Amino acid sequence: MKKAIIDNNRCDKSPFCPVKRVCPTGAVTQKGGMFRSETPKINEELCIGCEKCVLVCPMAAVKMK
Ligand code: SF4
Repeated sequence: MKKAIIDNNRCDKSPFCPVKRVCPTGAVTQKGGMFRSETPKINEELCIGCEKCVLVCPMAAVKMK
């Protein structure tokens, strides 16, 4: 099964990242607060490969691998 990965170079590190909200398994987490947010991380164990995150990322930073 393919898993989602986030390209750190494409990600704009927005604290409003829609990828975090759309993941049905809560596999996506992001450290930092409103002014210092980091690139979200995807927990491979929790990812079910649904690709919802790929569709919603405005920066096209999420790919399946
Ligand atoms: S592919 Fe689906 S389950 Fe995996 S991180 Fe993206 S939204 Fe979450």
